[in-house]
Amino acid sequence: MSQLERQKTKEIPVRAKSQSDSSASISEAELLFHELAGYLKPEDISQLQNAYLFSQSAHSGQYRESGEPYIFHPLAVASILGKLHLDTQTLTAALLHDVMEDTHISKSEISDRFGKAVADLVDGVSKLDKIEFQTHMDAQAENFRKMLLAMARDVRVILIKLADRLHNMRTLEVMRLDKRRRTARETMEIYAPIANRLGLNNIYQELQELSFHNLFPTRYKVLAKATKAVRGNRREILKKILEAIKQCLHEAGIDTKVNGREKQLYSIYKKMVEKHLTFSEIFDIYGFRVVVKDIPSCYVALGALHGLYNPIPGKFKDYIAIPKANGYQSLHSTLLGPYGTPLEVQIRTAEMHRIAESGVASHWLYKSSDSDLGDMHLRTHQWLQSLLETLSDTEDSSEFLEHLKVDLFPGEVYVCTPQGKILMLPKDSTAVDFAYAVHTDIGNCCVAVKINGENSSLRTKLRSGDRVEIITSSHAGPNPAWLTYVVTGKARTHIRSFLKTMQFEESAELGKRMLNQALLSFNVDPQTISTVQWEKLVRESGAKSKQELLTELGLGKHLPAIVAKRLAKPGELIFRSSGVNDAIAILGTEGVAVQFAKCCHPIPGDPIVGFIKKNQGLVIHIHDCSSISKNRNNKSNWLDVTWSQDITKLFEVSIKMVVANQRGVLARVAAGIAEAGSNIDNISMEGDGAHTTIHFTLQVSNRQHLAQLMRSLRHIREVARITRVRG
Ligand code: MN
Repeated sequence: MSQLERQKTKEIPVRAKSQSDSSASISEAELLFHELAGYLKPEDISQLQNAYLFSQSAHSGQYRESGEPYIFHPLAVASILGKLHLDTQTLTAALLHDVMEDTHISKSEISDRFGKAVADLVDGVSKLDKIEFQTHMDAQAENFRKMLLAMARDVRVILIKLADRLHNMRTLEVMRLDKRRRTARETMEIYAPIANRLGLNNIYQELQELSFHNLFPTRYKVLAKATKAVRGNRREILKKILEAIKQCLHEAGIDTKVNGREKQLYSIYKKMVEKHLTFSEIFDIYGFRVVVKDIPSCYVALGALHGLYNPIPGKFKDYIAIPKANGYQSLHSTLLGPYGTPLEVQIRTAEMHRIAESGVASHWLYKSSDSDLGDMHLRTHQWLQSLLETLSDTEDSSEFLEHLKVDLFPGEVYVCTPQGKILMLPKDSTAVDFAYAVHTDIGNCCVAVKINGENSSLRTKLRSGDRVEIITSSHAGPNPAWLTYVVTGKARTHIRSFLKTMQFEESAELGKRMLNQALLSFNVDPQTISTVQWEKLVRESGAKSKQELLTELGLGKHLPAIVAKRLAKPGELIFRSSGVNDAIAILGTEGVAVQFAKCCHPIPGDPIVGFIKKNQGLVIHIHDCSSISKNRNNKSNWLDVTWSQDITKLFEVSIKMVVANQRGVLARVAAGIAEAGSNIDNISMEGDGAHTTIHFTLQVSNRQHLAQLMRSLRHIREVARITRVRG
């Protein structure tokens, strides 16, 4: 429909149009509620009626491309989900699924009227709508699927999204050809596989058929015509076989339903393309489905059918003993029928049939009153868990397992670049990790970040679905502080290697001081080490130069005591005399070679010790920090350190504060901190009614400064308690 025509549709006089609209949609709605009354309680129906009226008035004046009033669409989506017998929350959300996106209704308004669970579902669906699928690369499609699953904490969001897509696909023919193609391709690549993974067999097949129809209209038409003709020709044979099977099972004493199965056009097409089979080769296979009451009957029926026609060797599969990854169970066998036609038989119980048709949705089947949200989550969780336990070793299942991980073990986040490229990062990844994942140069030069269009801190943890834009500056370089919060190996490696080159000299200087201290502890004067001794040591250690060896010492690659021992002639080793103050003075400006422990946040004035961490340099802790007590025995990793006299740098310190919950209290505290000459690095809060606990990371110059700061903060009336957090 052209822009102009659409305009016209909207200009139709409101009264005349709305009258016919509402009467048409009322009958659609009546139909829906009539269907739902088959399994829902009257109070559920009345909530759904409220949702319908609310949605109808929100969408009033909006029309679909087909010219129908918009409300037809949410009604149809709810009806698809109603056929799966889903719960009231899902159906309510289905009726409302487009109101946040297309009208000015807010999430809180939905929450007030229909409850938080419904509002969360609607919000989830709206968020999925905002992501646009942009490329057709396989890996990209894969990541997109994972992102969809990851974003929907509640699988019902995906169920609504799939029903939404199904209705849009059913009504696709009014769209322009290019739009039809694009939507169909996206459905084929993204939505149909998700429906399949979730075991929603009917939705999966319909999505596939509709996509095939819209992607290749001509092939679809030819195939449909040929299929129809062949089906007509074979009807007699099919009927005969069906009768024979029924008779055979009846004689075996099995109460059963038997149906011939018609193959989907798309599955015929796919087999022709992938297996290079001709149409008649594929069509010469008949499919039958036998549904029985229990598992023993499945095997009895199998035995009976194997007696009726010869089974084709190697074609039997027992998906009852080893279910498919999506929960599917059945016995499959191929028999050699009369006239040499292969017969594919599926045998399953009624319960297995239900799961085969509705998959994950069967876990939200409407239950009388006990189906609160927690219970439902529990049930899905159990279902997913049982799937994991029964996974067979097929290639399919390992793939499905990957997808489930996203839901079950949320260890990954999926975020996109401004260009729509999707990146997978480990959980807790920050904007800096993202920058390095895009490109090393972006990482090395990043200075700021916009997340979903808003300025954010580089240390912000990313969430699935975030759109991340890194702002770079060519003069910028990595900050050692990044190492405290990046989680990816790539970011860590590049930051370290950049800083190493930058701070080569600083590390070498520290290494020299550490070595000298060790030599002094053996009572060896560092000045007396000869060039020959040095050359020998450098050669033995594999370093290229003395400078490099000192740098490695500074970075913690070697232990100073061991190097010192090798450097000093054995005869010169004597016991150290007491009273020598040989502690290494720490300035705080040593760069990457010296780090201050995150557990205890030492500041000048605290008694400290240094711990040499392999490949990470020297880590400074407060001397009684609890996190290091278990490592104290290994003396060679410990270094005596002390604060240098002339420190100018500010240090991070961690503060916990309990304040009365009153307006503006945070502002007063923040002002107090600023007045005391300190900066706030980070704040987090947790409340429990009357009081809030605030965790601050502040910058102070030393203990004295901190004491002053805490004293002045205690003067604020709302501050009930303030303590420094150490370890
Ligand atoms: Mn929709």
